[in-house]
Amino acid sequence: MEDTLKHQGLRNKLVAKLKQRGIQDNEVLAAIQQVPRHLFLDSSFEKHAYDDRAFPIGAEQTISHPFTVAFQTESLQVKSGDKVLEIGTGSGYQTAILTTLGAEVYTIERQLELFKKAKLFLPKINCFPKVQKFGDGYIGLPVFAPFDKILVTAGAPFIPKPLLSQLKIGGILVIPVGEKTQKMNIITRKSQREFEKRILGEFKFVPLLEDKN
Ligand code: SAH
Repeated sequence: MEDTLKHQGLRNKLVAKLKQRGIQDNEVLAAIQQVPRHLFLDSSFEKHAYDDRAFPIGAEQTISHPFTVAFQTESLQVKSGDKVLEIGTGSGYQTAILTTLGAEVYTIERQLELFKKAKLFLPKINCFPKVQKFGDGYIGLPVFAPFDKILVTAGAPFIPKPLLSQLKIGGILVIPVGEKTQKMNIITRKSQREFEKRILGEFKFVPLLEDKN
């Protein structure tokens, strides 16, 4: 568990690449510069941890590409103190980016193995989400709703209604929608009943799975 100058240098390069690809939010770039992505990966991937690549994290899941993490986080317009619900904790890397931005993070994971691993690991790098839950993201987290922002980090075949209803007015939901590939949907809640949708870019995520039952 080491974060060396070499790792920091590789992160600087990654940040420069993300800027080139169009990420503009300096706070998001600073968070990526800060969070030691290599520590979220199996040591056999350490050498490539700062390439813009996805890697297996167990349970047939992957940590998202850094560009995807940066793009989703930028789209979410996180402000310090925002209550953010994340669906798909996975490795916890995106969770750490959100807490670094000062968000109060509620995160849900449906793979027990990944849930447990992230729960043990995140405190070791001083990352403390408010709530880490083992459960199904399709139903959101009604007891803690409403949220300023909701981020889905797996490909959803449709937009789950509970997530829309758990959004504050003025809040933003970022969700990749589609089966084989997904379009990034950025949804702003304008009022109790009105939602405004923008679609930005095509991505490839692991699927948001329905409950095992
Ligand atoms: N944010 C993660 C990305 C992991 S990939 C990271 O930074 O590493 C997406 C994750 O969503 C996987 O861990 C997968 O198990 C989880 N997932 C899939 N369907 C889910 C569901 N219905 N509820 C909660 N998590 C789900």
